[in-house]
Amino acid sequence: MGIYHSTRSRSLAYTAKEAIRRGIAPDGGLFVSDELGDVQVPLDGLADKGYLELAREVLGALLTDYSADEIAACVTEAYEGTFASDEVTPVVALDGSGISSDGAPASVLELWHGPTSAFKDVALQMLPRLMARTSADDEGAAEKIMIVTATSGDTGKAALAGFADAPGCGITVFYPEGKVSRVQELQMSTQEGGNVSVCAVRGNFDDAQSAVKRIFGDAALAGRLAAEGVQLSSANSINVGRLVPQVVYYFAAYAQLLRAGSIAAGDAVEFCVPTGNFGDILAGYYAKRLGLPVAKLIVASDANNVLYDFLTTGTYDRERPFFTTTSPSMDILVSSNLERMLYYLSDGDCELVADLMGKLASEGSYTLPAGLLARIQELFGCGWASEDEVAAAIKDCWDACGYLIDPHTACGYHVMREAPAAEGARARVLLSTASPYKFPRVVAESLGLTCPDDDFACMDVLERATGTCAPAQLAELQEKPVLHDAVVGVDDMGAFVEAAAAKL
Ligand SMILES: *Cc1c(COP(=O)(O)O)cnc(C)c1O
Repeated sequence: MGIYHSTRSRSLAYTAKEAIRRGIAPDGGLFVSDELGDVQVPLDGLADKGYLELAREVLGALLTDYSADEIAACVTEAYEGTFASDEVTPVVALDGSGISSDGAPASVLELWHGPTSAFKDVALQMLPRLMARTSADDEGAAEKIMIVTATSGDTGKAALAGFADAPGCGITVFYPEGKVSRVQELQMSTQEGGNVSVCAVRGNFDDAQSAVKRIFGDAALAGRLAAEGVQLSSANSINVGRLVPQVVYYFAAYAQLLRAGSIAAGDAVEFCVPTGNFGDILAGYYAKRLGLPVAKLIVASDANNVLYDFLTTGTYDRERPFFTTTSPSMDILVSSNLERMLYYLSDGDCELVADLMGKLASEGSYTLPAGLLARIQELFGCGWASEDEVAAAIKDCWDACGYLIDPHTACGYHVMREAPAAEGARARVLLSTASPYKFPRVVAESLGLTCPDDDFACMDVLERATGTCAPAQLAELQEKPVLHDAVVGVDDMGAFVEAAAAKL
């Protein structure tokens, strides 16, 4: 796919490189390409292909203005030796689960073997490599990029790990003081790298997020930075460079199921995806468009079930109470990447997408035209889990399958267990988005274990009770020196970014 444009208009065209560098289209829409699916990923010989080879094929099909050498270099840098599994994203059979009773065996696709133990590593190890190869050919582009991100916990660390010491880039991450877990805070405050800045903000995540949006809209600041050769950018999950790396693991899962003999070539597979911003599951749709036999994509939500309501009624309504749950990365009321799905399922109706997004912004809700909901429902199923159901799912999965899951994955487990397999599905795959050791307290308490106050002591309790092992990079955090201890008010975040940029 060489030409991208906004979901809301076709008036301006961009290369994949420009789309990745810009992140979001000037009219507020997301970058899409009408060439999606023109180049198919061949299914012949899929079983023999490893992750790196598949990554080269999928990225090559989706980012046609990168040369084969550029793609190959990006893939090697991102995935060779950075994930604690040869498969990068291994598939594990869920034996003994109630899920497999209808004849379609269930498995888990573990997406959390990267440096920060959450699925965002798969994309954020790749995005900086893709971005580093954009600057040279873009006219008028600033020499250096400063990534600025507000995080509620997981994105910040994965972005730091991806962009640390990336050439031509700096990264600044803001997190709400006292509102992330101790493990998450240490993951960020101990981050090494000459180009990284981390800062706690007095306020909650929304305060930090709103302030970051103001920083992006601050023309005077942009002018001062441009004079220093620095341009601001975002590592947000709407970036094309974060979406396309996620398409790869759908193919990798299929290849592993073939190798294990769980499916035969051509068999359709159902994927159940713990969803927040709709990026992960949208990548499954892209995989289908590239030729992967996908039976159905199941959206699993937590108590913030705005997508469940949308997919069952056709009305998206963000005016509702917000719940802080044990699955914080899915606590989202505006699911940004949904806009791309609306674009593709409406056959590229930019006017409709612009109209619906306008209504969402001004009225807080929109309703799909007749017909479109039915089309979406043919491909996307949905379900959600309450807080009690999440805890019960963690316990059930451990008791029935001897397999430990985190609270995000547990939403998907619950949804899959409640619903029969999609028609025609020969296997069901649950995407596991975080290591259970990122949330040791919730997981241990769900199993009925007594937990000490300290999260690291909680990890020990969990290891002893289950015979599983905490990922080394989480366990060793308690020994690492804290390198970042700045705390600012929201009004001083812009000055913090400027000071960080001056160090680039
Ligand atoms: C970000 C995240 C999700 C949600 O993924 P989306 O692409 O935003 O739908 C789910 N689980 C975990 C652990 C995450 O970090």
